[in-house]
Amino acid sequence: MPIYEYRCEACGHRFEHLFLPAAKTDPVCPACQSRDLEKLMSQFALSTSELTKARVKAARTQIAQSNDHKDKQIAEAEYTRHHLEDHLPPAETRRRRSG
Ligand SMILES: [Zn+2]
Repeated sequence: MPIYEYRCEACGHRFEHLFLPAAKTDPVCPACQSRDLEKLMSQFALSTSELTKARVKAARTQIAQSNDHKDKQIAEAEYTRHHLEDHLPPAETRRRRSG
């Protein structure tokens, strides 16, 4: 979603307006409700959102990889535990669980 920066010609107020595809209304100055606006490209907002996207993607990849790794370790630990308990005598299992 593009974010545009506007400068109000009437009062000089600068603000950012996020364009929603569904919204058909023109932006108005939040300070004086004037529609006499100059559209500026908000480079800061654009580059930030691009950077954020890249960072989020990188973070997600990292999380996905670490989760995958963790899940495998947990699965292996669970399997080992169940496997051991299945083969322990009942008394031994109870003692282990209460302790
Ligand atoms: Zn204004």
